[in-house]
Amino acid sequence: MFKQDQEIFNILLETISQSVVIVDNHQIIMEINKSAEKLFGYHKNELIGKPLNTLIPKEYHTNHSAHFKGFIKEEKRREMGKQTMDIFGVKKNEITFPAKIELNPFSIYNKPYTMALINDLSEKKKIKKRLMLKNKALKSASNGIVITDALKPDNPIIYFNPAFQKLTGYTKEEILHKNCRFLQKDDRQQGAINKLKNAIKKGESCQVTLRNYKKDGTLFWNDLHITPIKNKKGIVTNYIGILNDITDKKNTEEERNHLAKIFDESVNEIHVFDAKTLKFINVNYGAQKTLGYTLDEFINMTPIDITPYNDEIELRETIDVLQNKNIEKLEIETVHYRKDGTHYPVKTHLQLSKLGERDVYVAIILDITEQKNYTKKLEETVAKRTEELNAALAAEKNLNELKTKFLSLVSHEFKTPLSGILTSTMLLSKYQLEGQQDKRDKHIKTITDEVIYLNNILTDFLSVERLDKGSYNYKFNTFKVSKVVNEVVYNANMLLKEGQHINYPDNIDELSLHQDEKIIELALSNLVNNAIKYSEENTVIDIDVVQTKETTIFKVKDQGIGIPLKDQKNIFNRYFRAENALLSQGTGIGLNIAKDHINNLKGEIYFESTENKGSVFTIEIPNTAE
Ligand code: ADP
Repeated sequence: MFKQDQEIFNILLETISQSVVIVDNHQIIMEINKSAEKLFGYHKNELIGKPLNTLIPKEYHTNHSAHFKGFIKEEKRREMGKQTMDIFGVKKNEITFPAKIELNPFSIYNKPYTMALINDLSEKKKIKKRLMLKNKALKSASNGIVITDALKPDNPIIYFNPAFQKLTGYTKEEILHKNCRFLQKDDRQQGAINKLKNAIKKGESCQVTLRNYKKDGTLFWNDLHITPIKNKKGIVTNYIGILNDITDKKNTEEERNHLAKIFDESVNEIHVFDAKTLKFINVNYGAQKTLGYTLDEFINMTPIDITPYNDEIELRETIDVLQNKNIEKLEIETVHYRKDGTHYPVKTHLQLSKLGERDVYVAIILDITEQKNYTKKLEETVAKRTEELNAALAAEKNLNELKTKFLSLVSHEFKTPLSGILTSTMLLSKYQLEGQQDKRDKHIKTITDEVIYLNNILTDFLSVERLDKGSYNYKFNTFKVSKVVNEVVYNANMLLKEGQHINYPDNIDELSLHQDEKIIELALSNLVNNAIKYSEENTVIDIDVVQTKETTIFKVKDQGIGIPLKDQKNIFNRYFRAENALLSQGTGIGLNIAKDHINNLKGEIYFESTENKGSVFTIEIPNTAE
C-alpha cells in the first residue's frame, strides 16, 4: 500500500536536504533518503526492514523504546529529547554523533508511521563548544577585556570580563552601555587620548598607555590595545579593548629612569665596563666631562687607556680578585689621565655587576686631589713640627752639653786662674818691703788678668744662653767708632804679652755707627784678645777700620800661630778649638758668639790664616742697623 505512491514519495524524500528515516509503529525502518544514507553510511537496502535501534547507540536502546512508545500514543509532532537529554545517532562505522531528531507521526490508510528528520549536530556542537571555550577564556583572562558596539552612538560597552570589573572596581550597571571614557575621570589632557580618538575615527587598531582611574580614584597606568571588528562590508561593528594594568611596571620604570638620571647627572665619574673585553659600555656625564672623551670615544677604550696600568694582564691582576675571590668591593688608589694629557689622583670603588647576562664592572670614582693636598699639607706640617721639635730637642741637648761643658770648664778653666790668684795673693803678703813694689805690681797684674779672664768666660756663657734662647735684646745707638776701639784696646793692653804691640787704626775719629755698641765691642775685643793670645811675645797686632757708604770693616791682623788648614772650616763652631791652640787657655765659645751676633745684625765675620804666619779676622757690619 505504502509503495503505491512510491515515485512521488521518493522525489519528495530526496528533495529534503535533511536526513529522513521513516519507521512503522514497530520501529522498523521503512524508508530512508539519500541524505540519511550518507549520514549513517549505510545503503538503503541494508536498513530497510531493520529496527530503528540500528541507528541508535546501544546505551540508549531501552530508553529510546520507552520514549518512542509514549510518543506513538501521543501522536504529536515533537523533537526527541528536547527537554530531557541529548540525542545521539550511530553510523555504520560505529561512530556516534549528536543529533537533533524531529519526529512527525502520520498515517496512511490508517496505518501509523513516523517520519524522523535527523540533523547532525556535530558541527554545531563543536562550534558551541568552541564558543563556550572562548567565553570561558575571556572570563578567566587576567587582562581586562571590553567589547563595544561601534554601530551605536558613542560606542557603548556591551561586554566586559570579570578582570575588567576587578581592575576598575565599577559595578555592572556603571560599566554596561557606557563609553570607556569614564575611566579617565577629569584627567583628559593626555596625548594618548588623541591617538586613541584618531585610531577610532579611522577604524584602525592602536596601542596607548593612559592614565586611568579606578572607582575609588586610584590612578593606574592602562596599557590599552584596541582592535576593530569589521563586518563583511568592511564596516566597523565592534571594538575589542584589552586593558593591562602596568602601574607596577611604570613605577619600576620610573624608578629605573630616576636611577639612570642620577647615574648620568652625577658629577662623580661612574664607569661601566665589560668584565670580559674590559671595554667601556657606558660612562656617565661626570666621567666624560672630567676625562674629556665623548661616549663614542669611550666605547672603543678600556680602563688601561686612562690609568697607569701598562696592559691587560696588569689590570686584570688587580681587578679580577673580585671574581676570583668573591670579594664584594675593591678600593683602588690610582691616577686618571685626561685626554689632554693631564692627570689627577683618584680613589676607585669597583664592584662586579650583571648587565643582562653580561658580567660587568662598575667603577665609582672619586677625585682625591683635594684630599691628597690635604694629606700633603698635613705631612708637611708634621715634617715642619718634627723639625721644630728636633731643633728644640737639639737646643735642649746643647744646653745640657753646655752645662756639662760649663762644669768641666769651671773645673779646668777656673782652676788655673784661681790657683794663680791664690799664689799671687800669698806671694803679695810676703813682699812687705818698700823696695819690693815691682814684685807686688807683678802679682797685682796677674790677679787682675785672671779676674778679667774669668769675667770674660762668664760673660761668654751668659751670652751663649741668651743667644740660644733667641731672647737677646739688641740696643741700638749712634756712637763713634773710636770710642769702641779705644775701649777694646784699653782692655787688651792689660793682656799684652812681653813686647807685644797694638797698632791703633788711623783716621777713625770722624767715623760713627748706628749699631749695638756693646755687641760691636764684644766682637772686636774677642778678635783682638785672640790675636794677643795666639801670638808670641814681641809681635805686632794691627787694627784697621775702613768705612764705605754702607758698611764698616774692622780688620785684626796678627803674626801668631795661625790656624791649621784642616781646622779652618770648624773655627766658628761652638767649643771648637784648633789643634795648635790647646796649650793656651780658652773655651771655643768666643768666635761662635761673635759670629751669631754679627750675623743677627746683618753683618759678616770671616778670616784668612796661615799656620805659623798669622791670621787676619774681618768684621763687616752695616753702618746703620735696620
Ligand atoms: P778660644 O779662644 O776660647 O778657644 P774662640 O772661639 O775665640 O775660642 O776661638 C776658637 C779657636 O779659633 C781658638 O781655640 C783657636 O784655635 C782659633 N783662633 C781664634 N783666633 C785665632 C788667631 N788669631 N790665631 C790663631 N788661632 C785663632
